[in-house]
Amino acid sequence: MKNLEDIYRDAGAYLEGHFLLSSGKHSQFYLQSAKVLEDPKVASLLAKKLADMIKFSGIKVDTVCSPALGGILAGYELARELDARFIFTERVDKVMTLRRGFEVSKGENILICEDIITTGGSALEAAKVVQKSGANIVAFSALANRGFCKTDGSSISSKNECKLPCDVPFFALDDFIFDIYDSENCPLCKDGSIAIKPGSRGN
Ligand code: ZN
Repeated sequence: MKNLEDIYRDAGAYLEGHFLLSSGKHSQFYLQSAKVLEDPKVASLLAKKLADMIKFSGIKVDTVCSPALGGILAGYELARELDARFIFTERVDKVMTLRRGFEVSKGENILICEDIITTGGSALEAAKVVQKSGANIVAFSALANRGFCKTDGSSISSKNECKLPCDVPFFALDDFIFDIYDSENCPLCKDGSIAIKPGSRGN
């Protein structure tokens, strides 16, 4: 299999420009996972690779849960590979919730899956929602890690920005490490360009 960066580049999913991220920070690059996952064969290949890592760890997963919208495709394919159930959480007035009749049992082993983990904020919110119903969070996973959180087996330690609990394993296929800036010291802003929200101009 090609490496993850090549897969993103070949799918036109590794965008270069001047982006305003959901965290409010600026970046020259943006990863548009939906462009990679528009090919179900690629989605299934990536999910299989991620599932192999999780199976190899010996962790038992009853259910995969993704925060909508970004994590749903990756999580659904991962659930298929793990022979697990799939549910998703979604925001209602900015609050992460479990809707649509999805139920979680006490003691159910749940793995949280995102497309990309940056600080892991949404993944953690999804975890808290299902934990309230008594679920065990057995692991976090993502296709790609942005380098702030420590993945299973990696020697790189988590940065302060990482919100994932350090006592739960985190699996990702690869790291994408590029700089992000506060708006006041963004070199792209200093060059006079304006940061755009990914998606606002057709990307
Ligand atoms: Zn900027």
